[in-house]
Amino acid sequence: MTDLMPAARWYAPRDVRTEQVPVPVPLPGQVLVAVERTGLCGSDLEEYREGPVAIPPSAVPITLGHEVVGTVVECPGGEIALGTRVVPDVVVGCGRCWWCARHEEGLCPDLLVRGQQQDGGLARFMAADAATCVRVPDDLDVEVAAFAEPAAVAVRALRKAGDLSGAVVCVQGAGTVGQLIVQAALAAPATRVVAVDPVPGRRKLAQGFGAVACAPDEAVDVVRSLSGGRGADVVLECAGVPSAPAASVAVSRRGATVVLVGFRHATLALPWLDVVLGERRLVGTAAHVWDTDVAPAVALLARGVLDPRPLHTATVPLGRAPEAFERLDTDPSALKLLVAP
Ligand SMILES: [Zn+2]
Ligand SMILES: [Zn+2]
Repeated sequence: MTDLMPAARWYAPRDVRTEQVPVPVPLPGQVLVAVERTGLCGSDLEEYREGPVAIPPSAVPITLGHEVVGTVVECPGGEIALGTRVVPDVVVGCGRCWWCARHEEGLCPDLLVRGQQQDGGLARFMAADAATCVRVPDDLDVEVAAFAEPAAVAVRALRKAGDLSGAVVCVQGAGTVGQLIVQAALAAPATRVVAVDPVPGRRKLAQGFGAVACAPDEAVDVVRSLSGGRGADVVLECAGVPSAPAASVAVSRRGATVVLVGFRHATLALPWLDVVLGERRLVGTAAHVWDTDVAPAVALLARGVLDPRPLHTATVPLGRAPEAFERLDTDPSALKLLVAP
């Protein structure tokens, strides 16, 4: 008889059900992780609202959850000691293509992300690859470690931005990833960081971390006044709304770097002249790789350079995951909800 466990599974928009499914059996090279916390992310919310976005039809119903921390309870290959707390990286490349051979698994044309294209961590247990599990220091609080995945997105995005020493940085969209980028940019150290968000509570949080914060319609004036009239040296676009990339170009100076973090499945109109004649660099950044992004993210959380505790709205049991999605959808003051399976 197969063992069963509870999992939160996506069936259709606004139809996430907590139900009993078989416990995954780890293959050679994999571990079984007893999940302690799983964060709900903006992309999970997008699936809840209007999916399937990244979910392949053949994978439905699918267990969501890609921001996971837990403890290794089975490891057939013996790579990791049982009882070790890990952040399992969820980015799974094919291992055979040109990009995977260069350790650029995030660019693999056959990329699978656990929790998006295959079963993830909104469940009591999750299978993961032993080689890409990042160990969590013993003294790191599990609810802080639960932010490792969005922190890894922030780490990678900031690396794409280059040296921030002395820079005026503008972060568009102060959700979880935006707030973590604000903290990391201030530590970089950027001279000024401007966080732009329509939600007053998010602006207040960013101010608490040391940023200047303003509403979207004030952004151009605020950034200009802090940058000698030039505009931001670096913009990190985390809002992921269709108007945001053009708004990011508008607050940037000539020669600036604009890193696009957020996205929608939409085609954009861009201020073409401002990009070409203003020699702005538009750079995409996607997800993370376990060693260059997830491991530094865990280290930054452990050292307290990143402090996600003010971003943690609540922890809910797995059975209430469907309500948690509803809350994220309707309550703009809710930032990060963690699920404890
Ligand atoms: Zn996420
Ligand atoms: Zn590949």
